[in-house]
Amino acid sequence: RRTPLMAGNWKMNLDHLQAIAFVQKLAWSLKDARHDFSTVEVAVFPPFTDLRSVQTLISADKLPITFGAQDVSAHQSGAYTGEISAAFLAQLECQYVIIGHSERRTLHNETDEVVAAKVTAALGHNLVPVICVGETAADLAEHGPSAVPVAQLRAALTGVTNAADFVVAYEPVWAIGSGQAATPEQAEQVASALRAVVNEMLGQDVADKTRILYGGSVKASNIAGFMREPNVDGALIGGASLDIAEFSSIARYQ
Ligand code: 13P
Repeated sequence: RRTPLMAGNWKMNLDHLQAIAFVQKLAWSLKDARHDFSTVEVAVFPPFTDLRSVQTLISADKLPITFGAQDVSAHQSGAYTGEISAAFLAQLECQYVIIGHSERRTLHNETDEVVAAKVTAALGHNLVPVICVGETAADLAEHGPSAVPVAQLRAALTGVTNAADFVVAYEPVWAIGSGQAATPEQAEQVASALRAVVNEMLGQDVADKTRILYGGSVKASNIAGFMREPNVDGALIGGASLDIAEFSSIARYQ
């Protein structure tokens, strides 16, 4: 089976000092849980300004936590004030980068083309993109559950070859921060449609190994239902990832 990935997207929370304390406590909590975490991967996605501190702590103490950034520039280098390149993230030993989160698509006008260019930039520096897709409530009413996420994923994978390693996160916009998670059946329906897209574009081997996460109001109390679904390989967690006890119980979902 694909190793489940429990990914905490901190969004714009926790400065670099808070991040150090948080990651230390999270690692203790994972160790103390009397549970075999070797079968689950736990990742954190702190703000850019925290990454150097988080890298130092995780590598010095060999903590069983992976990490990545919340966004990346589509450009390589140059006159792009405020942007952060994939090369910089790779240099900080980021393994992952979230691309196309709905907050970036809506608040920063990121189009499918921008998302595809960022995916290419990330892969060019051996970062694993966590490609976010998801429909709004209006999309759901108008087009049904899978159409918009499927189209977003097709666009994001335009320049991707079957040698690439990436993660897909299905995050219905109506479920993010709303307390109103999708049902496990809804998540499975879209996750299986997304896996079919990967299969069609990149072949069965890539489709079989690619992890597809669900995100949107995931909590300790609802994670088990999602994890029972065959095409859901973990979660992208916002609010609940900022609470150490809650996040480590999500990681201990069984
Ligand atoms: P919540 O878990 O707070 O709903 O956020 C989900 C999300 O957007 C993770 O990227």
